[in-house]
Amino acid sequence: MTTDFRALARAGVRTLAPYVPGKPVEELQRELGLERIIKLASNENPLGASPAVSEALQRVWKDVGRYPDGNGFALKAALSAFLDVPSECLTLGNGSNDVLELLARTFVDHDDEVVFSQHAFAVYPLVTQAVGGRPVMVPAQDYGHDLAAMAAAVTDRTRLMFIANPNNPTGTWVGRGVLEQLLAAVPEQVIVVLDEAYFEYVEEADYPNGLTLLDRHPNLVVTRTFSKIFGLASLRVGYGVASATITDLLNRVRQPFNVNAYAQAAAIAALRDNDFLAESRRVNREGMRQLAEGLRTLNLSAIPSVGNFITFHVDDAARIYDQLLRRGIIVRPVASYDIPDGLRVTIGTAQENRVFLSALEEILAGH
Ligand SMILES: *Cc1c(COP(=O)(O)O)cnc(C)c1O
Repeated sequence: MTTDFRALARAGVRTLAPYVPGKPVEELQRELGLERIIKLASNENPLGASPAVSEALQRVWKDVGRYPDGNGFALKAALSAFLDVPSECLTLGNGSNDVLELLARTFVDHDDEVVFSQHAFAVYPLVTQAVGGRPVMVPAQDYGHDLAAMAAAVTDRTRLMFIANPNNPTGTWVGRGVLEQLLAAVPEQVIVVLDEAYFEYVEEADYPNGLTLLDRHPNLVVTRTFSKIFGLASLRVGYGVASATITDLLNRVRQPFNVNAYAQAAAIAALRDNDFLAESRRVNREGMRQLAEGLRTLNLSAIPSVGNFITFHVDDAARIYDQLLRRGIIVRPVASYDIPDGLRVTIGTAQENRVFLSALEEILAGH
């Protein structure tokens, strides 16, 4: 009764702030009784998923009582063909977050250091602290990763480095040249994790495909996800690509059935639908143009982004977030990412983008 259970938790956990997700649609519905809600808060695909996914999900239902394939044989085979990498280099995760956590649990011991950038994805410090590691946050440069400074932050105690390319919530990215320089500068004993959650959206010519660097850099791990362009966020499935040795280590720590059967079947179906991917890219490209232009028209500055979202600056982010909520539009405040005047908006359909921009215009005009 008098036990302070908080004091029993590991030191890293005691000071941990939980991940704050985008506000769920149902929650806002409960709070405000609104019927029509536009969620542009979690970088989900506004088109949903490929129609082939729902057919695949129906087929799994007849075996709902069975455990999934714990090794994900069929999904790994499909990914292996899709990516042109051997199956033994693939780690499936309950979302790619799971793979990020596996990396920390596999390589980071008490007081080991983990390097990542200011404004980077919130999960990096989270998984680091949860295993007792020491987060080393390197100041950003124009909101983007400063890879030279990150390389310089490596010490004898560094075990992991996380690079989000592009980064969430800033949408900033690093080119092939600087990434190769970083990989050359960092000692091979440091595992470099290249988080490519938005890989499929990026169309810049100089944007590096991390998979092409794996051969030359055995300490590199590339992670990707089905949550973003493939539209399977609710099912939780992502993957890591690494050497067979690192993959084997991750596999020892992994929960035996971390990716459920629905997620596996849906991911296989999603990989086959090239038309859906192309359409998603097109909608994103046009929506990005629409939003960037709309924000400019409202005299708001935005961080140039290559993802499916854009972070822009406003005078009173908390108030504007709230006023958007009242109009049934959910975006994402990014104060916890060290951007107190920022709001991140996911690229929606043309219609959703229009509604968002006109609501923002009204709010800024004081209506
Ligand atoms: C969304 C996101 C992920 C992936 O999340 P999962 O749903 O767990 O696959 C990983 N990294 C970044 C930077 C992201 O924005």
